[in-house]
Amino acid sequence: MTDSKYEVVIGLEVHTELKTNTKIFCSCSTEFGGEPNTHVCPGCLGMPGVLPVLNKRVVDFAIMAGLALNCQIAEFSKFDRKHYFYPDLPTSYQISQFDQPICKNGYLEIDINGEQKRIGINRIHMEEDASKLVHGGASIATSSYSLVDYNRGGVPLLEIVSEPDIRSPEEARAYLEKLKSILEYTEVSDCKMQEGSLRCDANVSVMPKGSKEFGTRVEIKNLNSFRALKKALEYEVMRHIQALEEGEPLIQETRTWDENKGITLSMRTKEEAHDYRYFPDPDLVPVIISREWVEEIRRNLPELPQARKERFMREYGLPAYDASIITSSKALAEYFDACVALYPEAKTVSNWLMGDLIRSLNAEDQDIRDCRIRPEMLVEMLRLIDNKTISGKIAKTVFEEMFQSGKKPADIVKEKGLVQITDQGEIEAMVDQVIEANPKSVEDFKSGKEKAIGFLVGQVMKLSKGKANPNMVNELLRKKLK
Ligand code: ADP
Ligand code: MG
Ligand code: ZN
Repeated sequence: MTDSKYEVVIGLEVHTELKTNTKIFCSCSTEFGGEPNTHVCPGCLGMPGVLPVLNKRVVDFAIMAGLALNCQIAEFSKFDRKHYFYPDLPTSYQISQFDQPICKNGYLEIDINGEQKRIGINRIHMEEDASKLVHGGASIATSSYSLVDYNRGGVPLLEIVSEPDIRSPEEARAYLEKLKSILEYTEVSDCKMQEGSLRCDANVSVMPKGSKEFGTRVEIKNLNSFRALKKALEYEVMRHIQALEEGEPLIQETRTWDENKGITLSMRTKEEAHDYRYFPDPDLVPVIISREWVEEIRRNLPELPQARKERFMREYGLPAYDASIITSSKALAEYFDACVALYPEAKTVSNWLMGDLIRSLNAEDQDIRDCRIRPEMLVEMLRLIDNKTISGKIAKTVFEEMFQSGKKPADIVKEKGLVQITDQGEIEAMVDQVIEANPKSVEDFKSGKEKAIGFLVGQVMKLSKGKANPNMVNELLRKKLK
């Protein structure tokens, strides 16, 4: 990756499901997770003779996303049919936009090593989602049958296509994070990657440094987590560099990411636009967008991440670093707001969110909105630390348990017997025991080796299973060793 002989070129195509109540061309529900084939009608099942009717909300959302991403909004836009044969499309074509998308020529800014970098957005277009295939076996390759769930078919999507301005897997991740954040703030999508409402395909090529011509491009499909995006790109870049070094040819193709094996696998050779036999959908009239409509939406754009970051610094006195991490996700910012409303020590809250909370969420690939620790539970835990029921160290254990089980902190402390030991006599007994058992360290400390006290404190803490009040342990030890 850091091989200075080569330059990496990446462009992302991101699909996001819009937060409309109904589908793009019929009035079926878009809700996630219903019984298979319950959100369907003759329209989205592709029955002959049923005409599509465009959901105006979809256009509102497309304009909103376009404005938030600094795009030009077309005055004239139209829908086209994109043809391919696969059971996830009942009509054998997807209604999408080809040469006249609703938004063009935008950009967003990513923060990379403390510097702002602008990544171009080539276009944003509206389209319908395909249905979901449920494969019968362990994987698509080994299953003997597949079932089709049409609930997702016809859910409105925006496809957001970046320019090939991204230069590393880290930048790709930063771009996707920023894009997700902007889409969340505008509330056009809930962007739950776990539920597939934000999905990403990555195009990548590698060329000799300074070359004017891009290398052979590979498209990796369906990267559904930030980790998958970064890992898949790192793998693919390495594969390209190896091929270039060995003079092996690379082919332009579509690949898939195998999460378990940690490798990409070839799916098919890349299709070209003409393979899709695009033509304007004769069942839909063009979309004409007045400037008043655009301005109306511009006026009502909600606060975007950058503005909220500045507000958090101003109102809560958060450092820029904290504010930028906490506002990077709208849901996290709201979580923070909810905590601070109950517990005004903003920096303490921020430390827990940026440390334990984000780490746990990342480790489990969990969305904060699904987190079992609700703001009031986190605050209750902070109060237990403040009133010395538990130590900061034990709080970590309580936090972990809350995260896993969703139990209340006070219940966890009671059940697991985690109440901090503050009884002078009890601590003294343990201190005596440790002094007795560690004559060498005691000698060291007495002869001026300040460090030895740390070891002795550690031994008492261990003896108390982490429950002794560390300040008291320290004090008592020093008193006894004087
Ligand atoms: P298609 O419609 O065939 O997928 P596009 O021209 O629309 O092709 O490009 C899709 C994505 O691929 C865009 O995000 C673009 O920035 C990116 N891209 C184009 N050429 C390259 C390249 N050589 N290397 C990496 N990414 C590329
Ligand atoms: Mg593509
Ligand atoms: Zn329908």
